[in-house]
Amino acid sequence: MEALFQKVQFLKGVGPRRSEMLGKLGIDTVFDLIWYIPRAYFNRNKIDSIASLQENQLSNIRGKVMAVNASRTPRGMRLFKVLIQDDSASIAAVWFNQAFLSRVIKVGVELFLSGKIKSSYGSVEFHVSEYEIIDNSETEQKVMPIYALTEGLNQKAVRNLMSSVLQEYLCDYPDIFSEDFLQKLGLCPIQFAFLNIHFPADGEAYLQARKRLAFEELLLFRLSIIFDHQEASCLDGNIIHREKTGLFQKMKTALPFQLTSAQEKALEDIVANMKAPLQMNRLLQGDVGSGKTVVAALAMALAVDGGHQAAIMAPTEILAAQHYASIGQMFENTPVRIACLTGGSPVAERRVILEASALGEIDILIGTHALIQNDVAFHDLGMIVIDEQHRFGVKQRALLSGKGERPDIMVMTATPIPRSLALTLYGDLDLTVIDELPPGRKSIKTVFIKQNARDKVFSFIRQEIEKGRQAYVVCPLVEESEHQDFQDAVSLHEELRHSVFQDYEVGLLHGRMNAREKDAVMQRFKQNQDQVLVSTTVIEVGVDVPNASTMVIVHAERFGLAQLHQLRGRVGRGEAQSYCILLGQPCTPESVQRLRAMEKSNDGFVLANEDLKIRGAGDFWGVKQHGLNELRVADLLRDKRLIEMISNLSKEEQLQFLEDKTVLKYVNKKFKKSTDIARN
Ligand code: ADP
Ligand code: MG
Repeated sequence: MEALFQKVQFLKGVGPRRSEMLGKLGIDTVFDLIWYIPRAYFNRNKIDSIASLQENQLSNIRGKVMAVNASRTPRGMRLFKVLIQDDSASIAAVWFNQAFLSRVIKVGVELFLSGKIKSSYGSVEFHVSEYEIIDNSETEQKVMPIYALTEGLNQKAVRNLMSSVLQEYLCDYPDIFSEDFLQKLGLCPIQFAFLNIHFPADGEAYLQARKRLAFEELLLFRLSIIFDHQEASCLDGNIIHREKTGLFQKMKTALPFQLTSAQEKALEDIVANMKAPLQMNRLLQGDVGSGKTVVAALAMALAVDGGHQAAIMAPTEILAAQHYASIGQMFENTPVRIACLTGGSPVAERRVILEASALGEIDILIGTHALIQNDVAFHDLGMIVIDEQHRFGVKQRALLSGKGERPDIMVMTATPIPRSLALTLYGDLDLTVIDELPPGRKSIKTVFIKQNARDKVFSFIRQEIEKGRQAYVVCPLVEESEHQDFQDAVSLHEELRHSVFQDYEVGLLHGRMNAREKDAVMQRFKQNQDQVLVSTTVIEVGVDVPNASTMVIVHAERFGLAQLHQLRGRVGRGEAQSYCILLGQPCTPESVQRLRAMEKSNDGFVLANEDLKIRGAGDFWGVKQHGLNELRVADLLRDKRLIEMISNLSKEEQLQFLEDKTVLKYVNKKFKKSTDIARN
């Protein structure tokens, strides 16, 4: 097996220069090379004649280059065109921004091209997505892999290398699954899989190969997570939280409302876990407005009750400030000391907070990424809460928990993901779901309206205001940062207060205001001194004004689904029928899809699935986390069924894998980066 981890540099025909290029592709060892999966394939079985090409259909053609031409468009884009001819006809084929091609593709060369016909302004062209220079010395293999390359490497070199490495080393690649197991799950042997992912014998063999490798990857991925978790949880010295001062009970009874039964159940799980001598690692999942923050605050109260400190980390300064306000309110009339630390905290204040935190003179520290800075210390950190998990990576989670001695950890997310996917992604986290909204929430009517009909929307809001209601108008940020761009909001505010709402009061809220200013604006709006609140996404989370019944989102096409759903959650909290109006000028099919999805559903679960479909899994998770970026074959969307198969494996089966040294070695080789991070 060691042969697999041999450096590629020492392979025949590689040498230092080529191994450096391979290194750029992340290929150090034979193992890496074998896992270097083609990014596409050329199917030579299916060649279309040029005369038969249909517009916009992906097709393969084969022909001879009759003429070449390199040019630039007026906007500076580089074009490379060739006239390619087969027995039936000829057509201009075009590449964009690949000037170097003129050195490779010359008149007389024979090409395979894959791409689509497009016609514009009366001319018909073949837009090339893949090309290949036909080299008659190559084998009879019909389906050829196309690898992602780097300068100085060509397809042929990588194919030859791959082919000889597979021949020589594949027999050393052990199958981690027994024959029975393979049969039970309908998977092919590993050698067959690698051979056919690189050089598919046919379509069926390719699908078999892909399935096996995707399964292998997802399983190793999951094991890497379980493995870390297992290592962690067999250590002694976990905190046992205790109710010592009655704080927890007192806060629970003092709530101004009754917890929903879903909240009660979640809290029960959490409390039981915190009181047990096990480290808590829990994902608390619940739709926007389902009341996660309240549950988190009570859990922190339990930690403080027993004499420990607690911390809550939010992804933005505004969210941190909002938690500070709402959690602060809940702990009013208690001796609990709370502070808020963000990147924007003044230096002097920051120093005071750091000192107090290290001495244990702060009980609950709320903040942003600022909490994971090196100089932040705690006296006795017993519980941490991380809000909006998918915006943080495992690494941040580990950094914060490293500031205590095995504190209990709870991460909260409004992103509802299917359980099997959650288990795969967060295999180290127990899952608690709040699947119920507090009573009295009404369903919100959502409409998408073209930007140019904006005035009608504002007159509609006027009517609502005349009925005594209030409205939010939210503008997008041009840049995402803690201190945000607010020009749009400022000018819209000016415009509205002098036109359609001139006889009402219009407030303005944006991220450049300091906490006191923001607070004053929010107070005015809460008390209905302002009827309309124009704002940037400051109000994304946490604002609670039941009398506000309309949410207008300007340039809604610029927001992601999750954010739109969050924003919409600000209305629908009172008695009146509420509305969410998405003003927009969507210019991509994806943005139209997003806005339509919002119209159709009020359910965060449905929307998250839709979002996953529209964006694809990689984008959906935003931050590259765990070893997700190490997945070469598996696709979290496409391979839902495989993910389910894995989450259905019995404990015994999983244990068996964990006890297998070969398996562990593979887990480490494949996901070593992420496991390293998780341990740091
Ligand atoms: P989340 O963090 O899940 O989006 P929050 O904890 O911010 O939700 O709660 C949203 C709003 O609902 C808050 O104003 C909160 O006070 C209120 N709330 C939470 N739980 C309940 C409940 N059981 N009954 C009534 N209102 C509740
Ligand atoms: Mg929240």
